[in-house]
Amino acid sequence: MTREGIITKGYSGFYYVWDGNSLWECSLRGKFRVKKQTFLPGDRVIINVLDEDRKKAVIEQVLPRKTELVRPTVANVDQAVIVTALANPNPDFRLLDRLLVMVQFSLVVPVLCFNKCDMVSPAESQRVKEVYEKAGFPSILASAKKGWGLDQLKEVLKDKISVFAGSSGVGKSSLLNALEPGLSLKTGEISEKMGRGKHTTRHVELIHLSSGGFIADTPGFSSIYLPKELKREELIKYYPDFLEYQQLCRFTTCLHRDEPQCAVKEAVALGNLDKMRYERYIGILEEVIEQERRY
Ligand code: GDP
Ligand code: ZN
Repeated sequence: MTREGIITKGYSGFYYVWDGNSLWECSLRGKFRVKKQTFLPGDRVIINVLDEDRKKAVIEQVLPRKTELVRPTVANVDQAVIVTALANPNPDFRLLDRLLVMVQFSLVVPVLCFNKCDMVSPAESQRVKEVYEKAGFPSILASAKKGWGLDQLKEVLKDKISVFAGSSGVGKSSLLNALEPGLSLKTGEISEKMGRGKHTTRHVELIHLSSGGFIADTPGFSSIYLPKELKREELIKYYPDFLEYQQLCRFTTCLHRDEPQCAVKEAVALGNLDKMRYERYIGILEEVIEQERRY
């Protein structure tokens, strides 16, 4: 009997496959071993049941991989939940904007989660949310401590493979615990995985949420560098809010920095685009230009 499932982890020569109801310990058909084909958490596979009671099966077939993320190595990642704390640590919007670029560059859909909303005024949370929603990114206001925003998070995580992104201390482990209380991760546990470096990447595990969907137990997009293939004129592609003005710029090659008759700069001056976000764009643009010089 065959079933379809998703590999949640590979460990000591076995792959663990979740079929929607239970976890199967799977070995590989010899043909895969001969081809030295490797599978990743996130790969969708067809398994053939060997022992129903002991949940043992064999992987018969792997379905085509849509995407492959390098850090962590997970296949078919649909979205990245970028977690930013609104306090303690203070929100790092520069990092947030860089992560937005990196995530979209990897063809992963960003979802913003502003955590620790219990530590700032509702007006402040709302203001931040509005900046980013206006910029075109769905945003969730959350507090792992108070349980705020969890239903909304569950809704976006449902039926998807997601990774968390965001620096340590913003509350990724706490949010995961709040979403899946059975997990009881220690605080900082998710971030520590990232710090331990190379050999943990081999044991990335997808956590299955009882409300639906999977989330990697290792955060993504932790590199301090922007992708080196990113070109200065392409940066704007990851700013959906700026993009609608760009066609009105005098020069088609406008970088929206010092060019005359720039519609993006005009929109900033008129208050139609967020000034701070524009200033961070200039910072990131300069970084991209600096990086182009180095390679
Ligand atoms: P991680 O490094 O991103 O996994 O962050 P942790 O989940 O370890 O959280 C770091 C610290 O922030 C811990 O002391 C948590 O108890 C605290 N924390 C996490 N979420 C919240 C929240 O929503 N509100 C408050 N006040 N503290 C939080
Ligand atoms: Zn321009």
